[in-house]
Amino acid sequence: MNLNQELVNSSNPVTTSMLISTTNSNSIASSASNSVTSPTTLSRYESQKRRDWNTFGQYLRNHRPPLSLSRCSGAHVLEFLRYLDQFGKTKVHNQLCPFFGHPNPPAPCSCPLKQAWGSLDALIGRLRAAYEENGGRPEANPFGARAVRLYLREVRDSQSKARGISYEKKKRKRLSPPQHPTPLMQAPHPPI
Ligand SMILES: [Zn+2]
Repeated sequence: MNLNQELVNSSNPVTTSMLISTTNSNSIASSASNSVTSPTTLSRYESQKRRDWNTFGQYLRNHRPPLSLSRCSGAHVLEFLRYLDQFGKTKVHNQLCPFFGHPNPPAPCSCPLKQAWGSLDALIGRLRAAYEENGGRPEANPFGARAVRLYLREVRDSQSKARGISYEKKKRKRLSPPQHPTPLMQAPHPPI
């Protein structure tokens, strides 16, 4: 994990500048001046990770009763994930909804909007890395807790059923687990 940190802090982030050149391809001047003024420009993944880490820090600071990072457990991470659902934009049908299991519902319904499983999964991956990059011990990493893994699996399965979408198929095609830089709050799921 220290290696990661060194890569991030290195003054020659090769992959970062490659990412930026593809996202800012139409504004060469600004990206050129960017690279001069800030040699440590972060990749989308790195900046998203930093944002997520700040969001979690904010959550801890606002927590009642007060909660320090060192006392944070997997149960608190689950609490955080459930709290995030209110900002979700993914319609998850309940079992009584006529559109339960319909990937493409013909009409609106009153089912709740939640965070999509893919967003939560990617978020946990970023926070898990950030925790260790910020000095947390891997064996105490609350984002790697078994309860969190089980919760994510449960969310994946229930959303897969409710939305009539198979996440399994997509996953099997990939050789490595996906690490989408999906923004946390502004990740609208395309209405399929
Ligand atoms: Zn519904």
